[in-house]
Amino acid sequence: MFLYNFCPTCKSELELLDDGYQHCVNTECNYIHYGNPIPVVAAIIEYGEEQVLLAHNVAWPEKWYALITGFLEKGEHPEYAVVREVKEETNLDCEIGSFIGHYTFRRMNQIILAYHVKAWGDIQLNEELDDYKLVPFGKVKTWPGGTGKALKHFLESKGYEVEEIPFN
Ligand SMILES: [Zn+2]
Repeated sequence: MFLYNFCPTCKSELELLDDGYQHCVNTECNYIHYGNPIPVVAAIIEYGEEQVLLAHNVAWPEKWYALITGFLEKGEHPEYAVVREVKEETNLDCEIGSFIGHYTFRRMNQIILAYHVKAWGDIQLNEELDDYKLVPFGKVKTWPGGTGKALKHFLESKGYEVEEIPFN
């Protein structure tokens, strides 16, 4: 959970109480930082027939390739957000295939909303990404954590057996 040092309302200090939440020390204010989970959309991008696009973020270890993810804009529907994120990060146009499910990502206090999308166009990565690979559905190995589980569930729903590789 993200911890803040100061109250966003009155700028007094926050203190962590036994209920697990940070409370503003100013008794006139009563602000409580609940740290509600943040929704994030994730795209399982099907590009070509039965192959998935996995992308490498510039900040990640060399061997990590994963789904395209992103935050929602103010008031934005997740289906619109996932299509927008795919366009922004890969230049691909896409349409929603199906909603895969909700997944928790506890360390980041996020709720992942995972979609399968069918995409087309020329792949051009934005500055957040520096590489990608196209992997046939039958050859994908997934990873622990929310987006990896989403990909595993999607592939299993298509009849594939999927091996999950632990982080090392
Ligand atoms: Zn306050």
